[in-house]
Amino acid sequence: MVRGGLPTRDRLQQKWVPCTDLCPHCETTYENEWHLFISCTKAREVWLRADLWEVVRSLTATAVGFVELIFSALTTLEGERKQDFVMIYIMVFMETAE
Ligand SMILES: [Zn+2]
Repeated sequence: MVRGGLPTRDRLQQKWVPCTDLCPHCETTYENEWHLFISCTKAREVWLRADLWEVVRSLTATAVGFVELIFSALTTLEGERKQDFVMIYIMVFMETAE
């Protein structure tokens, strides 16, 4: 679920699926995992509403890539904040995988 399983637009194009590479949420840049979960304005709105944006933003300062960021979040967060983070991650994943 974390390691390259998400059918983002950039990954679909690498597999020759005919589609645009633009993010379907903001339509401003190509969609990859980092954009979908972190840098997209829509993603930021979700993290802000869950009161997790500062955590996610601070993790982006040290994470080398998307997978490392997810694992850092899972080892850093505790309790309800970890549950919220996982639920948001799963919801975004399921929506994109449809
Ligand atoms: Zn976007």
